[in-house]
Amino acid sequence: MIVLVINCGSSSIKYQLYEMPGKKVLARGLAEKVGEESSFLTHRRDDEKFEIAKPIPNHKIGIELILSCLTDASMGVLKNVKEIGAVGHRVVHGGERYSDAMRIDQDVLSCIEECCDLAPLHNPPNLIGIHECRNALPGVPMVAVFDTAFHQTLPRRAYMYALPYETYERYRIRKYGFHGTSHAYITHRAAEMLGKPVGGVNLVTCHLGNGCSMAAVRGGKSVDTTMGFTPLAGLVMGTRSGDIDPAIIPFLMSKPEYSKVAEIDKMLNKKSGLLGVSGASNDMRNLTEAARKDGENSRAQLAIDMFCYRVKSYIGQYMAVLGKADAICFTGGIGENSPHIRKQATDGLDLFGVVMDNEKNESQRGKEMDISMAGSKVKILVIPTDEEGWIAEETYTHVK
Ligand code: ADP
Repeated sequence: MIVLVINCGSSSIKYQLYEMPGKKVLARGLAEKVGEESSFLTHRRDDEKFEIAKPIPNHKIGIELILSCLTDASMGVLKNVKEIGAVGHRVVHGGERYSDAMRIDQDVLSCIEECCDLAPLHNPPNLIGIHECRNALPGVPMVAVFDTAFHQTLPRRAYMYALPYETYERYRIRKYGFHGTSHAYITHRAAEMLGKPVGGVNLVTCHLGNGCSMAAVRGGKSVDTTMGFTPLAGLVMGTRSGDIDPAIIPFLMSKPEYSKVAEIDKMLNKKSGLLGVSGASNDMRNLTEAARKDGENSRAQLAIDMFCYRVKSYIGQYMAVLGKADAICFTGGIGENSPHIRKQATDGLDLFGVVMDNEKNESQRGKEMDISMAGSKVKILVIPTDEEGWIAEETYTHVK
């Protein structure tokens, strides 16, 4: 079966075409700056790359352009769009309703719409992507794979905030958690690497990319996670603050430059994190380079130290939550590629039975590997994430 995976953002559409089962990638690409004059699409087939600079005034035209690339005589991989057997959509928020992927019907569409209030930047474009695909591919089954679903197994004591209970009843304020497709995929791969059934693994999974989150996984199920009501909570991220004292917000709002909700929101989401502390960059590669040049008292080094300290603190917290862990897993652009950050974030955890093999840690980039010392009670695994592949698998499972 041919499965198309669509990740529709407000101004971008990411796509990947798979042959299932087996997850063979036939083609992939990205439409960028949808709605702007300078919009373009990058389409890839094997090692070939095609740049298509065309106006993409809206998502409808974007989806049509993607389908025409997939069937194009020179750069396509299909004869006809009718070969597409199913479409999997990444949907950010499924609220409290969905703990699994769902075949899309009117009920599921209504729920995604209801959750727009909880994810106003993400669910509306996700919905547009679903509508446009349904129009372009009538009759083709579609599946929604939710970022929040994997964390729906959190116990009440972990997902509730100690706010007046009515804020939960009235506004559904609670921890939802995100990056669920990545944490779910990592959990399954880690179980395979450890030679255990998924239901038998306890893990601390660390997704460290531009956005960062961790999860405590007991018996293959998420029991706690660092992101919260929104993806702003938890770890220090590229431009997001992660955890702060909530009293900072009303304090800053009493100052003229932060008096508006939109300004505070922008400051916390776009101007904080690695960028805000270093004043230089949100990109870990640039920061590592800057810290090397400017020394250990530089703000770049401070940002790196804060990043690693927060990861380490949560590893400790989650080891306490789990009691016993089989492995700590690293993924995401930073987790997969930076031995230095992995080392700093796990340094001194021998106490918990976590011992890194420094040589293995340095040996390869972006590959699945066990980088713990032989005999380390808790393994340290590097597992490149595959969110699109996971969506394809979930989609295939739900329609086959
Ligand atoms: P996103 O969350 O947008 O998908 P990625 O998972 O691609 O982001 O992660 C981006 C982050 O990964 C950036 O901070 C980038 O600097 C970092 N990164 C990528 N390669 C390396 C590397 N070799 N060393 C350190 N950091 C890296």
